[in-house]
Parts: sequence; C-alpha cells; structure tokens
Amino acid sequence: MRLIDGKKISNEKKIEIKNKIKKIKQQTGKVPGLATILVGANPASQVYIKSKIKACEDVGIKSFHHSLNEDTAVENIIALIKNLNTNQEVDGILLQFPLPNNQDAQECINSINPLKDVDGLHPFNVGLLSISKSWDEIIERNILVSCTPLGIIHMLQMSNINIVGKTAVVIGRSSLVGKPLSMMLLANNATVIMAHSKTNNLKNLCKNADTIVAAIGKPKFINKDFIKDNTVIVDVGINRTSEGLCGDVDFDSVKDMNIDITPVPGGVGPMTITMLLENTLKAFNNKR
Ligand code: NAP
Repeated sequence: MRLIDGKKISNEKKIEIKNKIKKIKQQTGKVPGLATILVGANPASQVYIKSKIKACEDVGIKSFHHSLNEDTAVENIIALIKNLNTNQEVDGILLQFPLPNNQDAQECINSINPLKDVDGLHPFNVGLLSISKSWDEIIERNILVSCTPLGIIHMLQMSNINIVGKTAVVIGRSSLVGKPLSMMLLANNATVIMAHSKTNNLKNLCKNADTIVAAIGKPKFINKDFIKDNTVIVDVGINRTSEGLCGDVDFDSVKDMNIDITPVPGGVGPMTITMLLENTLKAFNNKR
C-alpha cells in the first residue's frame, strides 16, 4: 500500500499560495478577502468554519465571518449575501452547509455573485465546468470549481497518478463532490462511471476500475471485496463513529493490498480547505 499524503501536498500548496499573496500585498497593498457564513450551531460545521478561518490567517487572506441564528430566514441569508456581493474587500463568499431546518440551500447559492462563488456551486460555474473541453481550459480560464474535487485532482497530479484513458468509478453523485469530480476526471481524459445508491453490481464495477472514489458517507462501506491490486482509492468520506473518525473505505481490510490510497484523516480533507484558499486567490485575481 502507498499512502497518498494529502496533508503534505496541501501544506506545499499552502506555501505556494502564501508566497503569491505576499507578493500581491507588496505590489498592491491589497490581500484577498473571504467571507464565511455559518447559520446555526452545528458542531461539525463550527469546526470546519474555524479551520477555514485559521487557514486563511495562515496564508494572509482576510476573513470576514458572519454567524447567523439557527432560525434565520432564507431571505435574510440572501440579504447578507447580496451585501457581501458588493463589498469590495470580499473576493469570496462561503456559505457553510448544511443549512439548519432543511432550508433551501440552492436559493442561497444562486444569490452569490458567480465571481465570488469560491465553492464552485453556482449554476454559472457548474455550467462552465460542464462545457469545458479540457482540464487546461478549466485552469487557464480560472473557472471556480468545487473545492473537494479540485483538491482530489491536484492530489492525483502531485502523486504522478496517470488517469488518462483509465476507468474511474465515482461512488456518489452529490453536487458538492461526485458530479463535479466526474466532470473534472472527464476533462482529464479518464473514462468515468458515476455510481449511486441505485447502481447494480457496484462490486463488479469497482473490481474493474483503475481508480475508485468513495464519496458516500457510509463508514467503511468499501472493503477488499470491491478492490483489485494496483487500484487508486480516494476516500472522501468523513464519518464520525463511536470508534472515532473514519472514511467510506475499510482501511484495515485493504491496507495489505498493493494499492494507492488517501487516508482519513489526512487525505482529501486538508486538500479541500487548501483549494478554498486557492479559489479565493483565483477570485481576487479574476476581479483584476
Ligand atoms: P451526499 O450528498 O449524502 O451523497 C452521498 C452519495 O452516496 C449519494 O449520491 C448516494 O446515492 C450515494 N450512496 C449512498 N448509499 C450508497 C450505496 N449503498 N451505494 C452507492 N452509492 C450510495 O454526500 P456528499 O456531500 O457527497 O459527501 C459524501 C461523504 O464525503 C460524506 O461522508 C461527507 O462527510 C464527505 N465529504 C468530505 C469532504 C472532504 O473534504 N473530505 C468534503 C465533502 C464531503 P443517491 O444519490 O442515489 O442517494
């Protein structure tokens, strides 16, 4: 087994971002700004927001945090977003999900200025990702795409994992992970199979894959029965269990196989936050 060290790759990327921001500050006196919005007091969301603010501090991005009560109406969340859309110091807007009380997240996302949509979830940016013909085009046009999949692609590239022409099975079709990742893998010339809860023969599909991405949200769902040797496994899952944090892959069951795998924690998670910083810098540069 070879571990794909997301923490190390993410730290290297953070240093690169920090140096770029330092240079921008020296040249213009300005730094990128990220506004974060947390509605309610979901403990996991509080931890994520704290990590994101800390990561901004580490690289020199200015944070503007807004905490809203759990019972804040969607109209009021949108009013705040509209205010941030016109704030010149704010380059990126991040609304932490999930929203409490089953509020309509898409309505809020749609109100974010697409140029400040650092989560890459606005239909405008999702559309740009879908119509892009190649990965080069996505990078050269500075398109804002979802952070977790962006981090996964970066991690694969930095680990010299070749996906061109290879079969990738992406398990999970969420707008945050599965769908945008499938588009990004496709732009990188992988042959992509999108699997979900209604997929037949998931084990067989996985057994024939060169890369498996598990973005399911079910602890230890993928075990050695799904995997052949020489497969690359990307474990996106973050599951809190009575035994602690674990991924969607049963790490103990596959660890003696000849595979590349991202650990949980220390794999995809750190990459996601770093790509939020990357997207905020991108949004700052796009404004200019
Ligand atoms: P989600 O919106 O709940 O989507 C889960 C997906 O898994 C759905 O598409 C669902 O299929 C599919 N699924 C559920 N049971 C399945 C089964 N038995 N077989 C095959 N597919 C199945 O989740 P998400 O937001 O994408 O997140 C997935 C996991 O990644 C969660 O653990 C989350 O915490 C984690 N995550 C981690 C990061 C990170 O930075 N590391 C970022 C985001 C999310 P249907 O569509 O058919 O229901």
